[in-house]
Amino acid sequence: MASKRQIDVGGVKIGGGAPVAVQSMTKTETADYEATMLQIRAIADAGADLVRCAVPRDKDIDALKRIVVESPIPVIADIHFNHTLALKAIDAGAHCIRLNPGNIGGPEKVGEVAERAKAAGTPMRIGVNSGSLPRHLHELERENPVEALVSAATEFVALMERLDFYDFKVSIKSTSVPNTIASNRLLSERIDYPLHLGITEAGTKWTGSLKSAVGLGTLLADDIGDTIRISLSTFHAEEEVKVAWEILKALKLRERGPVLIACPTCGRLQFDMDTVVQEIETRLESYDEPIEVAVLGCAVNGIGEASHADFGITGAKNEGLIFAGGEPLKKVPQDELVDALFAEIDRSLKIGRVERDEAKVAEGAAWLAKIEEENVGEMTPERMAALEAKAATEEAMATGTALPMAAPAAARERKKLDESASPTAGRRFTRA
Ligand code: SF4
Repeated sequence: MASKRQIDVGGVKIGGGAPVAVQSMTKTETADYEATMLQIRAIADAGADLVRCAVPRDKDIDALKRIVVESPIPVIADIHFNHTLALKAIDAGAHCIRLNPGNIGGPEKVGEVAERAKAAGTPMRIGVNSGSLPRHLHELERENPVEALVSAATEFVALMERLDFYDFKVSIKSTSVPNTIASNRLLSERIDYPLHLGITEAGTKWTGSLKSAVGLGTLLADDIGDTIRISLSTFHAEEEVKVAWEILKALKLRERGPVLIACPTCGRLQFDMDTVVQEIETRLESYDEPIEVAVLGCAVNGIGEASHADFGITGAKNEGLIFAGGEPLKKVPQDELVDALFAEIDRSLKIGRVERDEAKVAEGAAWLAKIEEENVGEMTPERMAALEAKAATEEAMATGTALPMAAPAAARERKKLDESASPTAGRRFTRA
């Protein structure tokens, strides 16, 4: 169930139907002001809405005072074990305080922090992690780790409410993906505060991204979760932000920058698509526009499932085709495909429409039609998928069963953030 309550972290709304906020955490010593600001800027440039900095020492507070002023995005101070540091971080102007009420020295000290936060208008994130649950829940943790995690979280929520403090989001984090999914599902049924999602110690860029995509993606698809952090074992925190965006883009929860779609390739592939896709992906990183670019390994299916893409290429042995909006644009030699594609993208972005040379369009269309005709009976992965989809639709209509929705309805209704409000929704370029 989606959270009903909303908090405001330095101008970024979290919960209550706001777009899922992306956050990351600096990996520098916060006291090292220059290094920390460098990393915060990299995180912000990659698209993070929020950044969290560890504040384990007094000298970090000194740097924090400057960081909260200079940072382009709101700063969350991450505090453990020391409530005095939490008080100082609030005084330093942190936009949010993250603490674990279980390790801060008892309810009185949590109360002191809540009182100071309330006076300053500073929201909090209260969280529980598997591995650091209160002692009285250890037995339950052995029997039912999910119930133990949720109990710890709801006990902390009850404590905050007793303290008359309601300006917080809640996190339950576990190294186990199934436990993260199950506990957040259960928690979302028991409380209506915003939820912070993450998989603790997820791993390297490769394994951590996959675990996070499975765990967080499953919850987000159910409309559970209001802000996400991808934890990766890399010093380059901006990589965490990129992964977070790919998850949100895949679920169509938010839009940012280009979307690359590429066929998986098969035995019909006739050019070095690995290299081509890699090059296109790298070159697209410098674009802010939410254009969709498709790469097809062969023209056997025509433009097929990539017809909704703003631009695309499909190749054969010696030559390939550039297409836009589902229609051929021009045929070019294979080794010029990528450069020609980007020339078309750049020109179209500059003039706001796709320019067509009718002679070249006709030549490209004829080339494509010839390849389609030569392979009309081929059972390609795309044609098999289309047949399966048709059969499923026919069966659903015959039995009166509803087809699964393409995306969670509630999730689709989430508002887009300013920068991703979609001036480019639907067909992005007109034809000339
Ligand atoms: S048949 Fe499909 S998967 Fe195979 S190379 Fe062509 S477009 Fe790619």
